[in-house]
Formats: sequence, structure tokens, C-alpha cells
Amino acid sequence: MQTGNEEVWRAIFAEGHPKLKRFQQFHMRLPSPPRCKMCFVPFGGLGGTLMRWRGKRPSQRNPRFCNACDAFITAFPGGAEVELSILFVDVRNSVGLAERLGPTAFSNVMRDFYTVATQCLIDTDGFVVEFIGDAVAAIYPPGFCGPEYARKAIAGAEDLMRTKMPSASDGTELLIGAGVHTGTVFIGTVAGAEGGYHDVQPLGDNVNVAARLSSMAEPNQALISEATLISAGCTPKGLQARKLDLKGRSLPITAYAIGCDTALLAA
Ligand SMILES: [Zn+2]
Repeated sequence: MQTGNEEVWRAIFAEGHPKLKRFQQFHMRLPSPPRCKMCFVPFGGLGGTLMRWRGKRPSQRNPRFCNACDAFITAFPGGAEVELSILFVDVRNSVGLAERLGPTAFSNVMRDFYTVATQCLIDTDGFVVEFIGDAVAAIYPPGFCGPEYARKAIAGAEDLMRTKMPSASDGTELLIGAGVHTGTVFIGTVAGAEGGYHDVQPLGDNVNVAARLSSMAEPNQALISEATLISAGCTPKGLQARKLDLKGRSLPITAYAIGCDTALLAA
């Protein structure tokens, strides 16, 4: 994790950088995904061809960002503390599934899971962060999502719960668990070995809380922390509050469980 350039990163993730926002709005009107994670420039479809012609293409060493954003990350290493929402989603029983399916079939179904889950997160304005084993995570920073960031994170979890997950080659449908939490995290650039790979990642206790909530959720359930509901201005609508002891943390977390037929946001 790198530090420095605090005002730049706070502007991007907390307030919304005016120039980047203009790029994002313009690029979202062009087809098609995949897109640069930061400026949303399209890499696919007609828009992708047009933008390549204008000099914007996937960065060679960091293909989830465009060459311009990759150069920006390299030029401004660092980060800032920002209040945002974090969503984790992971596959249940992936160890048993890997054993049963064998490596190729397992990797195929996991690739399908990443595709489906990532789409739910991007559709709700999430900024997808590194894939960790059998999990996908996204942050919902106000600089990208506006003041509704916590609502959008809840919408991301609800979208995941309602979306049909892929099935493995033996017919097993993947079961997922998700967790959403809101609080201050350090969000900043990470330099890879020999400076060869850069990404933007969140770090801190609140990130761990979201990950733990995801792992504690029952199959096809999302645990939404009370802090997220408060941020979103949401009422629990008759859902039972649960006090959860999270491994390695001294203070319990209050959370509400949603599934495919319970929702916090009005449809
Ligand atoms: Zn970009």
C-alpha cells in the first residue's frame, strides 16, 4: 500500500473529481463492456473501437484500467481515508466443489461466477476490487456513486440475491453469501513486485468486517450491517437485527439478513 497524494485520491473517491466525472459520464454513453474500472472507457463494441482510435486502450500491464488511468495511478501513487460502502460476495463450499469437479471444470464455473457477480456490482455503480480466491469485492465510494453510495451497495447485494448463479458441469448451482458494511477505509494504490502491477484497493477494519459478514451469511443470504442501513437512510422493515461476533474483533456488529425474497429497498 502506498501513501501520499492524499488530496488527489480524496477528490476522486470522496468528492468526485470533476474531470474524471465528466469522462465517466461521457464514456458510459458509449458501448460496450468491459470498461476501464476508473474512467469507464469502453474496451468492447463500437465504442471500444472508436476509443482505441482516439488512443485509449486497455493498459498492457494492468488491463482492467485504460492506458491513461494506468499512467495516472503510476504518476500519483498514494491514497486517502474515505467513508464508503464495501460489498463482498463469495461462493459457498468452493473447496468441496473444487475437489468434486476437478481443476478445469472448477475454473470454468468460477469464471462464470466472476462474470455474473461482477456484472451485478458494476450495474449498481460498484468499483470492483481484486478477486480474492472464491470471492469478489466492490467498493461504493461517494466520489463514484454520489451521496446514495450506501443505497447502491445494498442494491448490489439485492441484485446478487435475485440473480441466478451459474451451475457447475455436474449440475450443482453455485450458492453464494454476501456482506455489506459502511465506514472509513484507506483507499489507495498498490504497487506490485518491481512496480510491474498497480491497482487501487481498500484497506482497514471496515473492509475486514464486510468480508467477515460475507463469510458468516447463510447460503444465498446477504448480511447488511446496521451502519450501512443508517448511511442509506433505510429502515429494516420488520427484519430481525442480529448481533454478530466476528472472528478476531472485540466488538460485535449488528446486521440484517436479506435473501432472494426479502429486500430493504423498495422494488
Ligand atoms: Zn481509464
